[in-house]
Amino acid sequence: MLQSKLFAKTLHEDPKDEISINAKLLSRAGFIHKLMAGAYQYLPLGLRTLVNIENIIREEMNKLGANEVLMPALHPKEYWEKTGRFHGFDALFKVVSHFDKEFALAPTHEESIVPLVQRSPLSYKDFPFALYQIQTKFRDEPRAKSGLLRGREFRMKDLYSFHISEESLHTYYELVADVYTRLFLRLGLKTLRVKASGGTFSKYSDEFQVVVPTGEDVIFVADSGEAFNGELMPQHLRSKEVGSIVEHEGKKWAVRKSTEVGNIFKLYTKYSKPFDLSVLLKDGAKGEILMGCYGIGSSRIMGTVVEVHHDERGIIWPQQIAPFQVHLLSLADAGKAAEFSKTLYERIVDMGVSILYDDRSDRTAGEKFADADLIGIPIRAVVSERTTTAGKVEIKKRSEDTIRLLSEQELFEVLLKK
Ligand code: ATP
Ligand code: MG
Repeated sequence: MLQSKLFAKTLHEDPKDEISINAKLLSRAGFIHKLMAGAYQYLPLGLRTLVNIENIIREEMNKLGANEVLMPALHPKEYWEKTGRFHGFDALFKVVSHFDKEFALAPTHEESIVPLVQRSPLSYKDFPFALYQIQTKFRDEPRAKSGLLRGREFRMKDLYSFHISEESLHTYYELVADVYTRLFLRLGLKTLRVKASGGTFSKYSDEFQVVVPTGEDVIFVADSGEAFNGELMPQHLRSKEVGSIVEHEGKKWAVRKSTEVGNIFKLYTKYSKPFDLSVLLKDGAKGEILMGCYGIGSSRIMGTVVEVHHDERGIIWPQQIAPFQVHLLSLADAGKAAEFSKTLYERIVDMGVSILYDDRSDRTAGEKFADADLIGIPIRAVVSERTTTAGKVEIKKRSEDTIRLLSEQELFEVLLKK
């Protein structure tokens, strides 16, 4: 893509109304734009990044054997009344129509997936199975000040599994937990599996937390990697200072700030019961259906990656989710060097490698370098009069300081290896 045709321009200063690192950097670099607190517009660079994140999630869900569906965000009130959550879910957005009917804007989809499964003619032989979607969620969050980390409207992958035995639910739950750890690494995030409160039907749920100084959660981490969410700790422990070490039940725990990027729950029959979801078992008896649910916040992941991977100059995208793989900067407007950078751009496009080409003639070299650092594409390639005379391209990784002069062929080899 030509940078001269890129819709969003970089900004020189942080937006005045943003306090979080992710919102400041993503806004300045032209990835997102705030429509209001908790609701962001994704600009071309931001959308490319979000799509990359969601495609990696999709790939891992498909590998698990889950089926992808897409459900509406607008739900009938009746289903939410059935589970007691029309009035019981604090953050539920309610919509009143002209015709005096009320609806719910879904913050999660148990009230929609269960009726879907209920209407399907299922045999006990179909179990276990799992359905997922990647979709927009709505929550009336009281604190929407952390950019993409906490939206009133945000993106989530939600997976639901269905079982006719507890053993099957436990096995699947552990399988998803393993997939999650690997999946987050693919997205550039090292996570801890953290025990958290489980709600009504299960003692614990498991959260996948990224340790980061700007996180909203407080977790307690043992040397072994075992970890608890602070919400499970008694009040006097909970108030311990971040960074300190506390003793609890004979173990030492480091107190850390973190951000939750995924959460998995064993729901058992919490949502299948209210809908009377059941199946005829082999012996003709009516069997109850157990469920698990497994969320990942894809937009929160984009924000978390920025909180973790940045420096004073801008964002440092992990290669797997970067909006483009290569950022080619042309420092010449005319002559041999300009021609060389243009053909180089075309060849890289033909190779099928995603590339942003800074072809702007109204920017200084300094401005182009600053923009490249701010946007954070993994490989920067510079073509100038000097490099062209030497028959080379100047290559620098965003995550490193070393500058290398490569021939066109050597550059192609680097790109093909990716
Ligand atoms: P939190 O504890 O942070 O409020 P939650 O436990 O309510 O989140 P879940 O209902 O488990 O979240 O949702 C699954 C995932 O969706 C979370 O792990 C998180 O990554 C993401 N998520 C939840 N709420 C938001 C939000 N308001 N904005 C962005 N992502 C969110
Ligand atoms: Mg949670």
